Amino acid sequence: MVLKKSPSVLAEFVAAQAAEERRGVRGLEECRTAFATEGAGVLSDDEVLQLVAAGTIPAYALEKHLHDHVRAIRVRRALISRASASGTLETSHLPYHHYDYSHVHGQCCENVIGVVPLPVGVAGPMRIDGELLHIPMATTEGALVASTSRGCKAITLGSGASTVLTRDAMTRGPCLQMPSVLRAAALKAWLESDSGLADVRAAFQATSRFAKLRSLKIALAGRLVFVRFTTFTGDAMGMNMISKGCEQALRLIQERFADCDVVAVSGNYCTDKKPAAINWIDGRGKSVVSEAIIPGAVVRSVLKSSVDDLCRLNVSKNLIGSAMAGALGGFNAHAANTLTAVFLATGQDPAQNVESSTCITLMEPANDGQDLRISCSMPSIEVGTVGGGTVLPPQAACLDMLGCRGPNRECPGAHAQRLARITCAAVMAGELSLCAALASGDLVRSHIALNRAVPPTPASTPQTSVTPQPSAADLRTSSNKGSA
Ligand code: NAP
Repeated sequence: MVLKKSPSVLAEFVAAQAAEERRGVRGLEECRTAFATEGAGVLSDDEVLQLVAAGTIPAYALEKHLHDHVRAIRVRRALISRASASGTLETSHLPYHHYDYSHVHGQCCENVIGVVPLPVGVAGPMRIDGELLHIPMATTEGALVASTSRGCKAITLGSGASTVLTRDAMTRGPCLQMPSVLRAAALKAWLESDSGLADVRAAFQATSRFAKLRSLKIALAGRLVFVRFTTFTGDAMGMNMISKGCEQALRLIQERFADCDVVAVSGNYCTDKKPAAINWIDGRGKSVVSEAIIPGAVVRSVLKSSVDDLCRLNVSKNLIGSAMAGALGGFNAHAANTLTAVFLATGQDPAQNVESSTCITLMEPANDGQDLRISCSMPSIEVGTVGGGTVLPPQAACLDMLGCRGPNRECPGAHAQRLARITCAAVMAGELSLCAALASGDLVRSHIALNRAVPPTPASTPQTSVTPQPSAADLRTSSNKGSA
């Protein structure tokens, strides 16, 4: 498939080709000598490509040798283009210019060939714990942001969202093997003793200024011993931090139990990025509950529904329907939708949406049936405001919008907890709006209106307009939807 080339990328490509042709490409041995004595900086792109093809420079190490992120990406794109039959990457629409790569290499991604920009919309403002906040959401699902915004409006016209954090502890569950069930039981007994826990805690916590080991949960499967380390991790989501602490703790355990074999530092008893009842029951990361009271008049005017219809729909769909489907923590309408958009905007690990979006949404009449009470209980919101993708400037800017970028120096952990509370409140707004759309039968109509808007043809496009503009009617209906 030949993609239409963007003019600036094409111009750069043509200029680079012309420059290479003028310079000529030196032979392999001459290039090797120049690389060994003066470094890759003195080589042309084609000469670097020659050394990559010959195995002198590994393709993954272009950044290290060229000391220029953009050039390394340009060379890697050329390498892939020229090696493949379709050969379009060099001049494709996958952008790579005008991006700060300083935090990418060695931290966020390897073998970089560009960036995939995502639209970021804003939902709100929503009053959360007394503060009016705008919530950034990165998504390509038309009308998700508009729908969440409608929920934010209804909540803010009501009581506002109140949130409580009931637990803050990330987990890692290594797998150990003992020679027999009896030895496995001896290890379990020691880990559960006060002195065993104290020794393990001291070893674990020596690896970080912030990690605090809260507890160990131990389970045997034959002679396999699974140990779930439950840890406060400050403002970090904490997976690297805990893994480091676990390794140190496991070394200590092996000093005490020389017959203990470490099968894996992660034995899936954690459980990371996979559905598991242990996270739903015991929690992982931040456990948060949000609640709001929506006046009946707002239910009717903003949500175009009624208290009774919403309560009936919630029980039938989110509780009974999910039970019928054998759901594991999926007692909600689309918590993953809102949560993942917030995760992407704020640099969270998107694969952790698996357990983070488990949620039970409850609705009941309040104030003698006049008003609606809604709550979302989410036991496993895994978020951080330091480390991972939070260091990238666009994602950090979204954290700034929420008042929780980077470490909280006065009270470590307060920023990550704030992000978890905001996420839970945003999920509640999304739940409210989608359930209302389902109750009023608006879902499909609004979905089609915003997902299938036809872009204007070039002939009819005004010079200043770059995106299709929904009509006022579209905008009114758009706020009714979400993904059921
Ligand atoms: P990290 O960036 O690896 O560690 C956090 C760092 O920030 C530590 O060096 C910590 O200091 C420091 N820090 C400074 N101020 C802090 C504060 N207020 N609170 C907490 N830490 C503070 O981050 P992480 O959350 O542990 O790991 C996140 C990364 O792990 C992501 O990239 C994610 O994709 C990845 N991940 C890893 C695994 C895995 O199995 N290893 C699994 C899933 C995801 P100290 O050095 O004193 O602790």
